[in-house]
Amino acid sequence: MKLYNTLTKRKDEFKPIEPGKVSMYVCGPTVYNFIHIGNARPMIVFDTARRYFEYKGYEVNYVSNFTDVDDKIIKKAIEEGVSTTEISERYIKECVTDMESMNVRPATTHPKATQEIDGMIEMIETLIEKGYAYEVNGTVYFRTRKDEGYGKLSHKNLDDLQSGGRSLLVTGEDQKEDPLDFVLWKPKKEGEPYWVSPWGDGRPGWHIECSVMAKRYLGETIDIHAGGEDLIFPHHENEIAQSECCNGVPFANYWLHNGFLNIDNRKMSKSLGNFFTVREIGEKYDLQVLRFFMLTAHYRSPLNFSAELMASAQSALERIVNAVDNLKYVKENAAAAELTEAEGTLLEQMQEIVKSFEEAMDDDLNTADAIAAIFDLVRFANTNAVSGCSAAFAGQVRDEIIKLADILGLKVEKKEEVLDSEIEALIAERQAARKAKDFAKADEIRGKLLDMGIELLDTREGVKWKRV
Ligand code: AMP
Ligand code: ZN
Repeated sequence: MKLYNTLTKRKDEFKPIEPGKVSMYVCGPTVYNFIHIGNARPMIVFDTARRYFEYKGYEVNYVSNFTDVDDKIIKKAIEEGVSTTEISERYIKECVTDMESMNVRPATTHPKATQEIDGMIEMIETLIEKGYAYEVNGTVYFRTRKDEGYGKLSHKNLDDLQSGGRSLLVTGEDQKEDPLDFVLWKPKKEGEPYWVSPWGDGRPGWHIECSVMAKRYLGETIDIHAGGEDLIFPHHENEIAQSECCNGVPFANYWLHNGFLNIDNRKMSKSLGNFFTVREIGEKYDLQVLRFFMLTAHYRSPLNFSAELMASAQSALERIVNAVDNLKYVKENAAAAELTEAEGTLLEQMQEIVKSFEEAMDDDLNTADAIAAIFDLVRFANTNAVSGCSAAFAGQVRDEIIKLADILGLKVEKKEEVLDSEIEALIAERQAARKAKDFAKADEIRGKLLDMGIELLDTREGVKWKRV
């Protein structure tokens, strides 16, 4: 399997540190608002990478953080007159809901920056001891020029950075030894959250978070580090500097970066105001359509969002869903159960299509070609798995489409229609359980209904329900 590595600027053959295992860190969102569909792109593409590694038999340790201390969170908390924790916890919850509806699986660990401050203080102390960092008036800076490897990820030259250095100087930062130095720890300001440290009360800089969380949950050297391409410089460059100068070993072997999701060829971002939240898009489309849309492009290419492209994603996805549904019908109505010899040969041909899917994914996760392979499979099904074929044949073709779609995180089985009478019966059963004070059972029934797409509302007039 080959992956394009920003560090080497070429597609490298993937070799894990430990055979059969992948350690992977993906920079997560800063939680001060609902996530937008630009933020959703790394979530979807790297969740797909994880699913493909697992399909290939790897055990994946997938870590993705929540940045829950940041200027934007503080600003929002002040605006609303609530604590920063209230803001971050609220939007972590909303983000998890969005991830679930995009079929992005929860990470093995989702660390929060505020829970990892001790580790950050420890790493900063080591950097100071080794001469890579220094403190001035309660602020700790990283001594960038001391790190000989600095610039190797973004392929930037220190002198070029220096000549543009004026713009790096931010008001109040002229106490730095060098304009290239960046903040590891900053002193508290009135009304801001803070932690006690050897350099006074304050809070960590953004970059140190990820260095520390990756080390704690994955080790000093990890297989893959990923995120959006806007993070290459300075965030990931600074992470490498901190981690490698502290630990004395390479930080990550493969650096993967997704391209931007654009609107009218401009990056979708909160600051430009040209964004749609995942929640908004979810009101118009099934979020499976958003996921499908994201995967129709290669993850490194820019992708322009438009209603037309979403509409074509919707109809393409429907073609797969209909094929899978039709195969169910063919299977249930097949005259014969057992596979014929001719069908056996056809299934061997089908494996060629599966192979082309794998070849596409092995080539730097080319999901666009992988989707094309799924359509080859749909055409194969529509030609061969028609009335007259055996149940076993229709079933195997169907299972194969579902399996490949699942690697991309796409659910292609039609939801069963739930009858009103079924819902009413379950509600009555729940009411009986509540009366008998068996709340565990009542909750279980509520959960079961939710899985069926039915939400219960306990109102003064009794229990009401709606389809969600
Ligand atoms: P943020 O909350 O801005 O730190 O972003 C969280 C993640 O979303 C990072 O990996 C960003 O690179 C990524 N991201 C933000 N905006 C976009 C966009 N328009 N297209 C693709 N990725 C993005
Ligand atoms: Zn990060």
